[in-house]
Amino acid sequence: AIPLVVAISTALSAQNGILIRNRTAFENARNISAVVFDKTGTLTLGDFSVTRIVNIDQKYSEKEIILLAGALEQNSEHPIAQGILKKAEEWKLSLPTTSNFGAITGKGVTATVDGKNIKVVSPGYLKEQNISIPNNAYQNEVETVVFILLENALIGSIALADKIRPESKQAIDTLKKNGIKVMMATGDNERTAKAVSEELGLDKYFAQVLPHEKVEVVKQLQKQGEFVAMTGDGVNDAPALAEAGVGIAIGSGTDVAVETADIILVNSNPQDIAQLILFGKATYRKMT
Ligand code: ADP
Ligand code: MG
Repeated sequence: AIPLVVAISTALSAQNGILIRNRTAFENARNISAVVFDKTGTLTLGDFSVTRIVNIDQKYSEKEIILLAGALEQNSEHPIAQGILKKAEEWKLSLPTTSNFGAITGKGVTATVDGKNIKVVSPGYLKEQNISIPNNAYQNEVETVVFILLENALIGSIALADKIRPESKQAIDTLKKNGIKVMMATGDNERTAKAVSEELGLDKYFAQVLPHEKVEVVKQLQKQGEFVAMTGDGVNDAPALAEAGVGIAIGSGTDVAVETADIILVNSNPQDIAQLILFGKATYRKMT
């Protein structure tokens, strides 16, 4: 039988938008010593807007850059895709259809448009392929920049800005005050990760982390004796959520993340994680 105090606590959590999929997860929440947040959509709103487009190859216009990128992003559910599509809509572009669409896991997307291969990719992908970033490509601390390749030649860049959630700072402060280490693991680039980490006062961050590396981050921390809670929203995050002591999906996330997680935050609010941990501690303190 479930002790009454636990039953009540779980019900109260649900009222506050914290869905607990198994009781062990709630029991474990009080043991959490480190929380690893993903960035996009959890610590930030995940609501990207295009701030700057550079036609690195001047044969193409800014509109053509958005047109090609937008064509690919019609097939993607990533928040970056939504940002690029917003711009295409604003400019009333009618986007060409694509074939052979595929994700380059944690690095971007690829497809054929009009018989040519187009890619929209991260700075990390360029580095890996030894494609140098010219000086006229825009780079900025807090913004995410993606690059457009046509037949593997760099033709443009698109910068997108996201915003830190208003609730994130307080959530981090509450966790830190309670002796819990607060970290971030993101697929985004080093500069953006550093800027967000500094603004929020995180203990540590991991940038340009590929999906399978998120699992390694969790394992590494566990080896150091931490009891890890991990948040995520994407298909990519499911393995890390499964590995963590407590896997937390945010409500706006993909079905796969939600199905793998122990706990679901309906309101995608990082403060609810702090709430949950403190609530778990208080509940079991009453029982012993
Ligand atoms: P995160 O969830 O931390 O943002 P992801 O693994 O989802 O990490 O993405 C990592 C990086 O891969 C992004 O910052 C971006 O550079 C690139 N990327 C992923 N998906 C897309 C996409 N649909 N369009 C453009 N870039 C993408
Ligand atoms: Mg993601």
